[in-house]
Amino acid sequence: MTHQIVVCGAGIVGLSTALALARRGQRVAVLAPRASVPAAEADHYHPRVYAISPASQRFLAGLGVWDAMPAARLTPVQAMEIHGDADGEVNLNAWQAALPQLAWIVESGEIERVLIQAVRLFGIPWIEDRCAGYADGEIQTENGARIRAELFVGADGAASPLREAAGLKHEAVPYKDTGLVVHLDAERPHQGTAVQWFRDDGVLALLPLPDTSDGAQVSMVWSMREEAAARLLALLQDEQAAALEGLLAHAAEGRLGRLKVRSKLHGFPLTLERAQMVAPGIALAGDAAHRLHPLAGQGLNLGLGDVEALVEAVAGREPYRQAGDLRVLHRYQRARAEPVLAMRLATDGLHKLFAARATPLAWLRNAGMRWVEHAPMIKRHLIAGASKN
Ligand SMILES: Cc1cc2nc3c(=O)[nH]c(=O)nc-3n(C[C@H](O)[C@H](O)[C@H](O)COP(=O)(O)OP(=O)(O)OC[C@H]3O[C@@H](n4cnc5c(N)ncnc54)[C@H](O)[C@@H]3O)c2cc1C
Repeated sequence: MTHQIVVCGAGIVGLSTALALARRGQRVAVLAPRASVPAAEADHYHPRVYAISPASQRFLAGLGVWDAMPAARLTPVQAMEIHGDADGEVNLNAWQAALPQLAWIVESGEIERVLIQAVRLFGIPWIEDRCAGYADGEIQTENGARIRAELFVGADGAASPLREAAGLKHEAVPYKDTGLVVHLDAERPHQGTAVQWFRDDGVLALLPLPDTSDGAQVSMVWSMREEAAARLLALLQDEQAAALEGLLAHAAEGRLGRLKVRSKLHGFPLTLERAQMVAPGIALAGDAAHRLHPLAGQGLNLGLGDVEALVEAVAGREPYRQAGDLRVLHRYQRARAEPVLAMRLATDGLHKLFAARATPLAWLRNAGMRWVEHAPMIKRHLIAGASKN
């Protein structure tokens, strides 16, 4: 089978790449197991939620998928409250930068469902198989098919079978932290505020979600040392909920009143990863190309930035070049070098700053936060910078 472009992977990055390329007139197919996401039910929320930046929101709106999501499942973030591990605190408000909101909290399942529908509506061919090997410009699939294409896009996640089979360079450093995610009932309303605590034993974030029939709801993302997370994950459900609620009562400082577990607890090992993004006939995007600490909630936003740049390079190429021409792919690589490095340095730097137990650093990080809190110009700059990602 020969194609012009084949996207491996049907996560949010893979599906939006296929859709964006098709909308620019490229002949594209998806290679991935068929994904389906059942329709959302009242009071039930997908376990993974993302903070979607204004830039990602604009991109998804441009693809026509943003408006297809039920408005009642999208939560605008009006403010962010960031606490240090002493008296440091930074408050960012949308109105400080004259923005209607800082970000949106959206369930992974909602974005995936509308993307799957759009890919189907567009008639984009979907090869229901998996990439199992790669040699001489050809993918071998799990079912034994051989697929040739001018360009393969590896959007097949952090373990990227295509990246591994094609031998693209890749490095991964474990953080020895686990990202724990769960939805919670909150005693007090969140008022559209995302609250985050940078502690020397991890980073806790409570993200606003729509209210349920039980009242206010938030999504917890707690990056915790892996031993502490493993102890929690090993507990039986009732003991686990009681232990987590006990830890939250202390760590969340009563900010949203009593917090009660309302869904299953999931744990994700956290790593810092980067890969060679291109090779002749291959481009990586999303988690296949880079993975960050989730403390800034920017992994998917960075992946959607990859998609925009890749589509621009490929669809905007000279008519005499093939989609997988290395000169075309180098344009993509150059466009992404600075944003990917900047986000890597920012998230890894913040992680190191708060993981350090040395007293001068503990003083410095809290003093730094107090200083930012009283500098409106810097706050505006921080908000404007975050909205571009
Ligand atoms: C705890 C936590 C919280 C996070 N919070 C945020 C946040 O708030 N905001 C944000 O922007 N990011 C966040 N992230 C990051 C975000 O989850 C990822 O960056 C994003 O999901 C990556 O999407 P992707 O499409 O690249 O990969 P994936 O979602 O992993 O998709 C990979 C796809 O490839 C397919 N696949 C796998 N193997 C094969 C194969 N052999 N052949 C074909 N297909 C294959 C899979 O089926 C899947 O469909 C968070 C991450 C963690 C761990």
